[in-house]
Amino acid sequence: MAQINEHYLGLKGSYLFSEMAKRINAHGGDIIKLGIGDVTRPLPPAVTEAMIKAVNDMGTADGFHGYGPEQGYAWLREAVAANDYQGMGIEPDEIFISDGAKCDTGNIQELFSDKCRIAVLDPVYPVYVDTNVMAGRAGDYDPEKNAYSNITYLPCSAENGFKPSLPDTDVDIIYLCYPNNPTGTVLTKAELSEWVAYAKKTGALILFDAAYEAFIREDNIPHSIYEIDGAKEVAIEFRSYSKTAGFTGVRCAFAVVPKTLTGTDSNGQPHSLNAMWNRRHTTKFNGVPYITQKGAFACYSEEGKAQIRETIDFYLGNAGIIREGLKSIGIECWGGVNSPYVWLKTPGGMPSWDFFDRLLDAGVAGTPGAGFGSAGEGYFRLTAFNTRENTLRAMERFSLLRI
Ligand SMILES: *Cc1c(COP(=O)(O)O)cnc(C)c1O
Repeated sequence: MAQINEHYLGLKGSYLFSEMAKRINAHGGDIIKLGIGDVTRPLPPAVTEAMIKAVNDMGTADGFHGYGPEQGYAWLREAVAANDYQGMGIEPDEIFISDGAKCDTGNIQELFSDKCRIAVLDPVYPVYVDTNVMAGRAGDYDPEKNAYSNITYLPCSAENGFKPSLPDTDVDIIYLCYPNNPTGTVLTKAELSEWVAYAKKTGALILFDAAYEAFIREDNIPHSIYEIDGAKEVAIEFRSYSKTAGFTGVRCAFAVVPKTLTGTDSNGQPHSLNAMWNRRHTTKFNGVPYITQKGAFACYSEEGKAQIRETIDFYLGNAGIIREGLKSIGIECWGGVNSPYVWLKTPGGMPSWDFFDRLLDAGVAGTPGAGFGSAGEGYFRLTAFNTRENTLRAMERFSLLRI
């Protein structure tokens, strides 16, 4: 008998997006979707040209590539180190090219004991929680609290300006995501430094998800946790070409695991996390396609960089329209400056799902904050991933809301 991993029974259904789709379909009519968490603009021409060339290479005897290095081609790892981590002392062999930051943030917890106590922000990207549930690290689910007993939740709300407090209990692993999904908020260098100092003091490990790094436009907002002194001893960073360069359907990302990082065994002996992740990657993964890596490499060319910046500026233009539209009708909101996400407080403290229905009647769909965790109740997420025309039309519909 194949007995199952019963930790899977502790997962709660992925109710959020299915419930949204159900209500949108039942409603019918012309609905503008501002709930999309996927990019909408095409790949940069520099990327598609590089990929077409790579496809043609693959059809020639000289240009054919079979299995590549599991960790990624050296030319891509070198380009990442030189461009994304310039001056931060990150070496190419600390960079692991992968098929997605979702997979990486989900798989990384495999390196750690099931006794590790994890901390997440609330609201949170659900992958961090669910993968720890699967591993048996989360404890029991309490539907009243919408929370797992062994997970430390760090609430983020208007009251604390969406800046979570440091944990007041012992935690071993902390997931941070900045610019944040879903709230669109950021941490300054000084604020992120406090987390690095905390991790150094307590021995905790930070898993830093920087999938939206390319949307940062303000000074003094760190693009990488390695901009903070000492972070190489306490943090793993995740990045992705998905939101940066439109790779959601192409699949390419990377994790940075510094060689200075260690975890301890049950005897307190240190072990290199870089060596462990390398072993995991080479055992369970056979590398990102050559064609895809050539596309990612093109993101670092002058044309590639300029095209990516233009696309992100376009999304940020939409985000600005959403922010201004909300403010003009007296709805408080955050994010949308260094992020494609705008997080709003529902008028009159209306529950997130009630606001979803009201907005749907006005012809706009967004994402109820409660779907990202209990601290998201009373909030709502809008995204900039749409056309300019639809964004403008959606904000007109907002202005007709009578709440
Ligand atoms: C979209 C997103 C990612 C990127 O995932 P990929 O698997 O690389 O497409 C990672 N983290 C967060 C928080 C995201 O929203």
